[in-house]
Amino acid sequence: MKVSIFSTKSYDRQFFTAANAKYQHEMTFLESRLDHQTALLAKGAIAVCVFVNDEVDKKTIEALASQNVSLIALRSAGYNHVDVQAAKNMGIKLVRVPAYSPHAVAEHTVGLILTLNRKLHRAYNRVREGNFSLEGLLGFDLHGRTIGIIGSGRIGAVVAKIMTGFGCKVIAYDLYHNPQCEAISVRYVDMPQLLSQSDIISIHCPLTSETYHLVDKKAIAQMKPHVMLINTSRGALIDTNAVITALKSSQIGALGLDVYEQELELFFEDRSDRILQDDTFARLMTFPNVMITGHQAFFTEDAMQAIAEVTLANITQIEQGQICENEI
Ligand code: NAD
Repeated sequence: MKVSIFSTKSYDRQFFTAANAKYQHEMTFLESRLDHQTALLAKGAIAVCVFVNDEVDKKTIEALASQNVSLIALRSAGYNHVDVQAAKNMGIKLVRVPAYSPHAVAEHTVGLILTLNRKLHRAYNRVREGNFSLEGLLGFDLHGRTIGIIGSGRIGAVVAKIMTGFGCKVIAYDLYHNPQCEAISVRYVDMPQLLSQSDIISIHCPLTSETYHLVDKKAIAQMKPHVMLINTSRGALIDTNAVITALKSSQIGALGLDVYEQELELFFEDRSDRILQDDTFARLMTFPNVMITGHQAFFTEDAMQAIAEVTLANITQIEQGQICENEI
């Protein structure tokens, strides 16, 4: 099938080219982000392949439909950036990669926890400058601390398992209980209990209309003072301004982010020679107890191989009229 792959970087090209040896799709790699204007670049393609910051709204979907695109293949798990109803109305099928490597995201989450707790980001810079002072580097034992997981699906369950290995007490809030979590003695609690009992809170639920700004001023007020908050899920799950206020008062003691509400304008590009226009992001970066990575939690060899493989298999299944279990 002719596939236009939007928002491609060298690493997408590398992994998709390798995986395509088996599938033989006719792939065109486009560096542009998909929106209603760049949709024209898909001319002649039957399918487009998109990533998390492509703009798959109604206008874009209409532009794709007018060029006879009949399939949108997401190379991501989350699809909060896609107008699913508009695609259905236009007769365009949607497929995604629901689970490529929960370990990649979970391990990055734990990396943020360890870095923030033991101030490794600060220690790295200090030692390079010949500063061996320990002032300000005091951490705490993870052993015996309580970690609260919001959303105990694939990724949340792996975080729970790893943190159990550290000797943490793991509690979780989810709409459903995951037997994998119950098997390792994760205790399910309601949201107010999770907020008030956790020393570390890590978010692993999807962004939906119900979970938008799940962590807001009211939720933060219920948390333990100096709590560590980690979000590797989607930026808009937390109200960034409320979090900044809480960092200033030390109600939040440490913040680890791999996602950011306005990341569309920032992430995945080298902007080091440009003036940063986002004042909220700039403020976040002034805190010594904030660690931000640019949506890289998924970025392991294993995950990239799986993303390319599953995306191309999804496209083949739809092309051959088979049932695709990853159809949205
Ligand atoms: P999953 O579907 O396996 O698990 C999500 C869990 O959230 C489910 O158990 C679900 O019941 C729960 N949930 C849904 N609504 C909820 C609510 N209102 N309150 C509490 N729990 C709720 O998904 P996953 O594979 O574990 O991925 C979780 C999220 O991680 C994705 O939605 C995506 O946004 C994010 N993600 C980030 C990266 C990254 O690179 N940073 C990569 C992949 C996924």
